[in-house]
Order: sequence, then C-alpha cells, then structure tokens
Amino acid sequence: SDIGSQKERVVTEEEWLQKWEMGNIGFHKEQGHPLLQKYLDVLLNGRSGLRIFFPLCGKAVEMKWLADMGHNVVGVEVSEQALKDFFSEHSLPYFEEPVPEISGGKMFQSTSGNISLYCCSIYDLSSSIVGKFDGVWDRGALVAVNPCDRQRYASLMINLMEKNSSYLLVTVSYDPNKHKGPPFYVPESEIKSLFG
Ligand code: SAH
Repeated sequence: SDIGSQKERVVTEEEWLQKWEMGNIGFHKEQGHPLLQKYLDVLLNGRSGLRIFFPLCGKAVEMKWLADMGHNVVGVEVSEQALKDFFSEHSLPYFEEPVPEISGGKMFQSTSGNISLYCCSIYDLSSSIVGKFDGVWDRGALVAVNPCDRQRYASLMINLMEKNSSYLLVTVSYDPNKHKGPPFYVPESEIKSLFG
C-alpha cells in the first residue's frame, strides 16, 4: 500500500530513447498480450470499424492485430526507432509527415491508412490533433508514466475518449519497496481516483 519510494522517481524521455537504442526493451511482447485476447469483446462491445488508441505504444504487435480486424489504430511513442521497427517488422509500407501543431512532431502512417503512429510526447497530443477514440488499450502506459504525471495523463486520456468508449488497463501488482520501476505500482485506489 505504501508507494512512497516510487513517488519521486522520474524516467526521462532521453532514458526511454536510450533503452530503445540499447535494445533494453524487455517490456516488448513478441507474441502480443494474452489479456487483450481475453478481453477483446469488452473492448469492442460488438462494434466494428472503431478508432482505437495505443498510448505509449512502443512497437506493440496488438496494433497490427486490431488493424487486421478492420479497426483504425492510432498510437503515440517518443521513440522513432520503435515506430520504424514496428512497420518494418510487420513488412508494412508507411510514409512519414510532420505534425504542424507539434514542434518536432512526426506522424508515421501505413500506406493503407489504418495505422497512424505519432512520434512525440503524449503530453503534446490533444483531441484537436488526434480526435477522440472508441477504445483504448493501456498496457505499459499508465504504469510507465512517471508517478508525478499520472493526473495529467489520466485527464488527457479521459479527454480523448468518446462517450461510449471502452478502456482496457493492464497494471502490475508488486511490493513497490522492492523494485523501483517502471513498471510502477499503481494501487487500485489510485486508479479509482484517477479515472472515477
Ligand atoms: N505499450 C508498449 C510499450 C510499453 S513501454 C507495449 O506494451 O509494449 C513504455 C513506452 O512508452 C516506451 O516505448 C517509451 O519509449 C514510451 N514513452 C515513455 N514516455 C513517453 C511519453 N511521455 N510519450 C510517449 N511515449 C513515451
């Protein structure tokens, strides 16, 4: 219950870029996440052609799964390498264009148009840039956000959601005094106060 030791911890964007450069990406799941398969129905709720958001997406293979099912996928990730790896590892042709609203921001889009990945900080995004979403897959995202930024992150996510959207959140449970994170430990009570 005591998250005291993690509260002040900050992982900078530079450190994340280094992890990608060094191949220090143990969080990446080559086979995708079993919990998305298990709860897919909750996410989709019988709907098709959804807009689905992947915050802090890395090169998550689940983006390919959902695009192949006919949904529109939007992701955001600070590492350009991660995004380029995603497209090349799935042999997906893509193009790259600047995002005028974001200084230094780029968008990588599959030529088929159904996967758009923004290379910038998630805090640079707003619904006026990316629109709103019918579904969110949050794995390795809330738990990767610095504890001091959680409130800002949650407010942004709520802002990016359509009225009837579904949000699947994966967290990890462990003793926060034994590991420094990320992934950070986010207690259930905090999730309730962040998302209501
Ligand atoms: N969701 C992915 C990656 C999890 S690791 C998966 O399931 O595999 C967290 C990712 O967030 C890293 O790839 C890191 O580069 C990225 N990241 C960290 N801070 C970010 C920020 N402020 N904005 C966008 N991406 C960020």
